[in-house]
Amino acid sequence: MKTAILGGGLSGLTLARLLHEKGDDIVVLEAESEVGGLCRSKTSQGFTFDTGGSHIIFSRDSEVLEFMRRMIAGNEQRNNRNTKIFYKGKYVKYPFENGLSDLPPEDRFACVNGFVKMMIAVEKGEKTAPSNFREWIYYTFGTGIAECYMIPYNEKIWKFPTDLMSCQWVEGRIPRPPVEDIIKSAIGISTEGYTHQAIFSYPLDGGIEALVHSIAKPIEKFIRTGFRVNAITKTGSRWMISNGDEVIQADRCICTMPIQHLLPCIRSVPATVRNAADALKYNSLLCVTIGIKGPVPDISWLYIPEHHVGRTNRISFPSGYSCHVAPDGCSAIVAEITHQPGDEVATLPDYEILREVLEMLQEMQILNKDQVVFSSVERMPFAYVVYDCEYKKNIAIIRKFCSETGIALVGRFAQFEYLNMDGCIRSVMDYVAAS
Ligand SMILES: Cc1cc2nc3c(=O)[nH]c(=O)nc-3n(C[C@H](O)[C@H](O)[C@H](O)COP(=O)(O)OP(=O)(O)OC[C@H]3O[C@@H](n4cnc5c(N)ncnc54)[C@H](O)[C@@H]3O)c2cc1C
Repeated sequence: MKTAILGGGLSGLTLARLLHEKGDDIVVLEAESEVGGLCRSKTSQGFTFDTGGSHIIFSRDSEVLEFMRRMIAGNEQRNNRNTKIFYKGKYVKYPFENGLSDLPPEDRFACVNGFVKMMIAVEKGEKTAPSNFREWIYYTFGTGIAECYMIPYNEKIWKFPTDLMSCQWVEGRIPRPPVEDIIKSAIGISTEGYTHQAIFSYPLDGGIEALVHSIAKPIEKFIRTGFRVNAITKTGSRWMISNGDEVIQADRCICTMPIQHLLPCIRSVPATVRNAADALKYNSLLCVTIGIKGPVPDISWLYIPEHHVGRTNRISFPSGYSCHVAPDGCSAIVAEITHQPGDEVATLPDYEILREVLEMLQEMQILNKDQVVFSSVERMPFAYVVYDCEYKKNIAIIRKFCSETGIALVGRFAQFEYLNMDGCIRSVMDYVAAS
């Protein structure tokens, strides 16, 4: 049986490898000239940058973590996370609720007071369960943490009002912190949050793309790059998958590319399904990569919730993840800016974005512009799934159609879910185990 895998990002390549190990005949069809999707990296002038935003390897899922670490064995740097939030000109420990002692006293009071009041109200049954993401933030963290950090940061990254987002994707992902930790954090006793990420791995050489290359190694000869799928039909039990010039035949078709790219390839998609796909919300990413002479702060990455600081929502310092990604005496910086497809940022020229980011970094005293020795701007059209309140209804319509059509959906933008690399690999492992 021959399986065609549409898309050669992390999901498509992992799927191809695991199916190949089971003895299946596979072909991976990737539109771009390089595989890797969001997990691509570029090396230039001695700097290596992840072009789909800064990536790190971590997971709560021990089987998946073991798989990823095995793939980069011999090429791994282990790191302790030292992440901060840039708030009112100060570095606050991340997660915000674990960094309350870094706040000005009035904000610290607002955060502890708001948390305790909300916790008591919830325990007394005075609060109804949250019905949207904004309500969930207040319900979980109280007014202070919600208004100082959670709401501004989330509205900045999602580019979407939090009261129009569903809370389905955070439930279970972000628990309510224990009150003891909030008190300790406010009086300056060190506590850690998101401990599954407190130690992370990164490839020493090659950036995050080293992970996908290692996964792809045994199946390289089954990958077709530059094959942009634009038509999919079924004749009897055979799938015919075309890029306009050539047709690949297969018995099974698995999609790991965005569903927004899949549906136009299929003839006679019902209007209800097309409308549901058009209504799905997602963000694009603009990624500014900068190489400088000299050091950067000893921080893994930095969240920037305040709008007045700049459009950037996160700055990472990958030369702290691997000592091989910048030349000696130099450091690497990545600034990420999310935006909605077709908005003002989408049409801003690269030099304008770069100018803005460099000014912001200079203002924050992270660099001096005359230290810059390398810069580039990368754009990723599909970066984040946005869970608006209509998400559940729309995605169900599309999944039902794809399931009836016989095309399996695996991966971040095929499943259209907030899946990190570990979530994608878990989906692949589960699919392969069930197939
Ligand atoms: C800013 C940012 C930071 C992140 N950081 C982390 C992190 O630190 N740790 C972590 O675990 N995860 C992280 N992630 C998530 C991680 O990048 C994704 O989970 C993973 O890369 C998704 O892989 P995928 O193969 O499912 O999708 P993609 O990488 O999107 O791959 C889809 C592939 O389909 C191809 N394609 C599209 N259309 C066609 C077509 N018509 N024909 C053929 N091919 C097509 C694309 O070119 C692409 O190669 C981050 C994501 C972002 C946006």
